Amino acid sequence: MCLKARLEFLGADDADLGRVTEKIASSRLVDFHLEENRPAERRVVLSVAEHGMGCGCSFLRKSFSWRGPFWALRVPGRRLLAGVVRDVLANTNRLASFEARWLGPEHLPRTATQVSKASLLNAIEQGRVKPEVRYEIRPVA
Ligand SMILES: [Zn+2]
Repeated sequence: MCLKARLEFLGADDADLGRVTEKIASSRLVDFHLEENRPAERRVVLSVAEHGMGCGCSFLRKSFSWRGPFWALRVPGRRLLAGVVRDVLANTNRLASFEARWLGPEHLPRTATQVSKASLLNAIEQGRVKPEVRYEIRPVA
């Protein structure tokens, strides 16, 4: 069982994504892992983890429940995740959604909610990321 902090990218690959994630990985000491790659759909999903961790479990407090209303993200984990998402948003316009998904034998029902970039960053920073929600970034009107 594992927590995956997933970033979904849509749109034509301008070859920038690798460069962007490399830069963020080295400056923030995180790793990006390829979760899904569907070139025909122009869709790439990466997960982000603390450097060397492989998954997002280290973002969580030692004691947590995936049944709670929000993920019990550690304060440093929140700051790190929010920083990564902020950097991603600043460097590419391809980020379509963010979710913290629990990979376990019991799958939570998933719903999607539309958020602004600012409210997504706020939710991560405040530790108000819901376990069952995919946060879709609302295009700026
Ligand atoms: Zn894990």
